Amino acid sequence: MDLTNIHDVKDLLARHGFRFSKSLGQNFLIADWVPRQIAEAAGLDKSCGVLEIGPGVGCLTRELAARAGKVAAVELDRSLLPVLAETLADFHNVEVVPGDVMKLDLAALVSDRLDGLTPHVCANLPYNITTPALTKLLESGLFRSVTVMIQKEVARRVCAAPGTADYGAFTLLCQYYADCKLLFDVPAGCFLPAPKVTSAVVRMDVRETPPVDVPPEALFKVVRAAFAQRRKTLLNALSSACGRDRSRDELRQVILDCGLPEAVRGEALSLEQFADLARRLGV
Ligand code: SAM
Repeated sequence: MDLTNIHDVKDLLARHGFRFSKSLGQNFLIADWVPRQIAEAAGLDKSCGVLEIGPGVGCLTRELAARAGKVAAVELDRSLLPVLAETLADFHNVEVVPGDVMKLDLAALVSDRLDGLTPHVCANLPYNITTPALTKLLESGLFRSVTVMIQKEVARRVCAAPGTADYGAFTLLCQYYADCKLLFDVPAGCFLPAPKVTSAVVRMDVRETPPVDVPPEALFKVVRAAFAQRRKTLLNALSSACGRDRSRDELRQVILDCGLPEAVRGEALSLEQFADLARRLGV
């Protein structure tokens, strides 16, 4: 059965009495080049163990299984389990794990189900959990790489450069943990049903050592404060966030000591400049 042929997929789902759920971000791929290219972009071989989030009917799962040592595919929608039992019956290196990826103990999943393999993530992520799921995956420190299809708008935020409209706290979180690359766009017509937005595939190669020498809690405290009120200058944003501990004059001096202009906005600062600021603020 061709899992990207719209007629085959519709027949399969009708046979199982499946109904699409918008709240679970169910847009299934129906263009054969897409799962192939996503799996290819993940750069897998038999030494890799892959966590897939949301296998749907299993079209990307099959491509991953053909390349990796093992795939653990976490699916929240129990009504897809009998569908997957049928479509993945011949793929002996796939384990479907019923559950919500946001509630799962990822360390236990990796050690129990991908033991002895180098862990990677590859998925067509459900749109409704894109940001929290990527945050959880990156903060876990468990995976060598994360290759995902997400909304193009979010993909641009992940890979944005300082000073651009897409740059923000989420950009810095992703780029702190990984080297992020926007690979290619996927038009809405490649999905059943078609979403309202264009999607894009991003590859994140997780860093072995942090790019800056500041604890992430301190760094992201400053980053969050700087972006809490995007239109404010950095000085005003920091005054609102930590005005109780530091006078405005002290904060101004710290900004100047970083070699930054007094009226700079948070969105102009690179990761290194945020790290310098966090270090000098001693948060
Ligand atoms: N991989 C399939 C494809 O590319 O055609 C389906 C992708 S679809 C965008 C997202 C999938 O994630 C759906 O199968 C949905 O049921 C599942 N899902 C949604 N929320 C989830 C969660 N919290 N944990 C695990 N799976 C989830």
